[in-house]
Amino acid sequence: MLRTILLGPPGAGKGTQAVKIVEKYNIPHISTGDIFRENIKNETELGNRAKAYMDRGELVPDELVVEIATDRLTKDDCKNGFLLDGFPRTIFQAEKLDEFLAQRGEKIDKVINIDVEKDALVKRITGRRVCKSCGASYHVVNIPPKKDGVCDLCNGELIQRADDTEETVLNRIDVYNKQTKPLVDYYDKAGVIINIDGNKDLDDVLADIVKGLGK
Ligand code: ADP
Ligand code: ADP
Ligand code: ZN
Repeated sequence: MLRTILLGPPGAGKGTQAVKIVEKYNIPHISTGDIFRENIKNETELGNRAKAYMDRGELVPDELVVEIATDRLTKDDCKNGFLLDGFPRTIFQAEKLDEFLAQRGEKIDKVINIDVEKDALVKRITGRRVCKSCGASYHVVNIPPKKDGVCDLCNGELIQRADDTEETVLNRIDVYNKQTKPLVDYYDKAGVIINIDGNKDLDDVLADIVKGLGK
């Protein structure tokens, strides 16, 4: 049983580590960003409502996000735990999540807080490429695919996310510092924070996370 959250600024490596963590612990990876992007691709009403905020690098309104996330958490595959990636992102969202879990007699076990210095974040995000088909994440310099522009896993096309421009990134980092960083304190008070140095290599970061989770 592992109910856990990945916290950290945009580009910290949450999505990359999430793939490895869910494989090891056999829990579902729940990324609100992925859910929104899927809805934008399918031109759903939810996608239409989220798109303008995402393009500007702002947060999607709390009520909308909380509903999407808690709805996902009621699914059967979350019975033995889950890994939340990119949710919660505000104190309001965290309080709503706690209320939702408390009603079910559950609580968050661990919060993995990945920190990376700002210059590296900007380089990581502007160099990020994602697979259009399976969502796998690469980096043009740090983690290049075997073949340029092509996904190692599914041969899908690698593209740049609409919000991965330098200008939007700087805004997203500001938004993180103002609205999301207070969650570090929130979960520290609850005694569940694991602090991870995300500046290290992929495998070292993963090893630190596994050590922190202690299972
Ligand atoms: P997040 O989900 O936190 O926004 P990602 O996992 O998508 O971050 O990582 C952002 C970018 O940085 C991606 O291009 C990824 O390949 C790259 N990256 C992730 N972790 C590392 C690392 N430890 N060292 C170097 N580059 C990394
Ligand atoms: P990152 O790689 O920057 O961590 P995500 O994929 O998690 O990005 O999120 C991309 C965008 O989706 C955010 O900039 C925001 O507009 C929206 N979003 C995702 N999760 C949330 C959330 N919990 N609250 C508000 N907005 C969110
Ligand atoms: Zn792929």
